[in-house]
Amino acid sequence: MAAREIGPIVIIGCGPAGSSCALKLKKSAEARGAPLPIIVYEGKHLDRKSYFNQCLGVLSPPLGDIMEKELGVPFPWPIIQRKIEGYVVHADRTAIALEGGRAPSYACRRVEFDNYLYRMVKEAGIPIIPARVTDLDFSADGVMVYSEMDNVRAGLVVGAFGLDDGMAKVFERATAYRMPPFLSSVVTKIHPGEAAMDRFGNVIHAFLPSSLDRVEFGAITPKGNHLSINIAGRRVDAGTLGDFLGLDEVCDVLAGACGSALPPLTYFKGRFPTLPARAPFGERYVMIGDAAGLNRPFKGKGINSAVVTGIRAAEAIAARGGSVEAFEEYLKCCAELTGDIPYGRALRWLVNSFSRLGLMEGVLDAARREPALRRAMFNVVSGQETYKKTWREARSVGLLWRVLVSSIRKKLARSPKA
Ligand SMILES: Cc1cc2nc3c(=O)[nH]c(=O)nc-3n(C[C@H](O)[C@H](O)[C@H](O)COP(=O)(O)OP(=O)(O)OC[C@H]3O[C@@H](n4cnc5c(N)ncnc54)[C@H](O)[C@@H]3O)c2cc1C
Repeated sequence: MAAREIGPIVIIGCGPAGSSCALKLKKSAEARGAPLPIIVYEGKHLDRKSYFNQCLGVLSPPLGDIMEKELGVPFPWPIIQRKIEGYVVHADRTAIALEGGRAPSYACRRVEFDNYLYRMVKEAGIPIIPARVTDLDFSADGVMVYSEMDNVRAGLVVGAFGLDDGMAKVFERATAYRMPPFLSSVVTKIHPGEAAMDRFGNVIHAFLPSSLDRVEFGAITPKGNHLSINIAGRRVDAGTLGDFLGLDEVCDVLAGACGSALPPLTYFKGRFPTLPARAPFGERYVMIGDAAGLNRPFKGKGINSAVVTGIRAAEAIAARGGSVEAFEEYLKCCAELTGDIPYGRALRWLVNSFSRLGLMEGVLDAARREPALRRAMFNVVSGQETYKKTWREARSVGLLWRVLVSSIRKKLARSPKA
């Protein structure tokens, strides 16, 4: 079915994935001289910025290039609060500073970023219906989309609803789609004051604590006037975040603003997909962004993946219509993401295993002596290179052996003497 024969295309969600898809679809269809009817549904008041988004709002390269070249939308410089100049990785009582990369990342308030994209979609003349989609009926001649406000008969629905349980259940009932597996994340923020923010600097601290077996990783990210603190793991909760805030290495980074020195905290909970969704496309539907789960399975850049998958799906629809073949092409065009997943999974398993065994301190010691390992760690933490490329650049039997020896030595040195 050619794109112009599909009928209205409904995009569910106006986050980074949905807004990018809408903008690219409009641009690509117009370039082909065949404008398409596009309708976006968004359940949050993105125009009012009056909600919390648990995302830390770190925009990583090459997001600016992608937005400018592929969407024709300028990078949102006015909303940037901070340039991220480096990372410090902590494994228990050992830490290493990592700097470098091709370009810095930038931190903003995520609600500002969503609002910016929302305005771009509006300015492009794409209608956004401010309501949650509540149900879908799939039939041979279309999809009835029900919402809190109205209903529309669509020719195709694009799922850009993130990891929203309710919407995923609707698709799971009606199609073969299955939501991606995910890690939970708990986020809080503290306002340590201007002087403490200046001392903290423009670096993100990432933690791999061996003593908290529920926590895969934690991070402290400097924002405009506060620090965002988050942990991730399969079964983390606000109590686990309290345990994390009690770790010596975390207290040191917070310069003592921890434990009883903390004011009452507000908590938010979010999710990271760790693997692709099952059946991310089918007759008359396709998933993008977190809903598709085509993310880096370890250490983020979810916004970039959302934007890229939104763009690739739009290109496939504009060029090939709404058929299953078109979406097979879409998946092929996401090869940089999908091809990296096995490498990311292997790395995640390795880091988690080393961390649980208390071997990561030795890895950080080895990285101080080994520039290739330091570079690889920077690429993994910053997400500036694919895992595949990082692995190919850093792999060497000699290096792996030295890392292993360093890890075991450090572990033995830390073990209490009999
Ligand atoms: C704690 C945490 C920190 C993170 N930090 C970063 C970071 O610093 N940098 C980064 O690149 N990534 C980060 N991520 C990942 C990033 O937030 C996601 O990958 C990204 O937001 C995915 O975009 P999306 O458009 O697919 O989904 P979302 O951003 O979740 O957008 C989905 C949209 O769909 C709407 N919606 C849902 N259901 C319906 C419905 N039924 N009807 C209508 N609308 C609906 C929602 O309101 C929402 O606006 C973080 C994630 C977490 C959990």
